[in-house]
Amino acid sequence: MSMNRSVKLKPNAADLLIVAAVLLLAALALFRFFPGGARDGAQSAVVSIDGKIVERLPLFQRAQRSYTANGYTLRVSVEDGGVRVAQSDCPTQDCVHTGVISRRGQSIVCLPARLTVTIEGAPDGYDLVVGQGVAE
Ligand SMILES: [Zn+2]
Repeated sequence: MSMNRSVKLKPNAADLLIVAAVLLLAALALFRFFPGGARDGAQSAVVSIDGKIVERLPLFQRAQRSYTANGYTLRVSVEDGGVRVAQSDCPTQDCVHTGVISRRGQSIVCLPARLTVTIEGAPDGYDLVVGQGVAE
């Protein structure tokens, strides 16, 4: 509505500056949100043992991995955009019972094996797909 008014009146430099600033902010917001966004395949499951990262598995790619950590063997499965511990010989089975995780920041912890699987977004600028997800 304020847009209509300023079109009828003669747009002055201040109006143009505001429009330019808004467009710039919108563009920045897009670039800031989409790389780490929850929708595309830019996320990965980070597997750590004893606090050290041993592997990053991209979530868009099916994968089966076995890890031996502190005497226990865990089978990690990546499927349908999520990751889970499919099998483990640890005594508590908490890691198996956690089930599938698929959102950034979620994690699976196996205390006996000291193994964690955490979902991370892509680093800034990585795998940025221009034009995807911009529906409006
Ligand atoms: Zn476990």
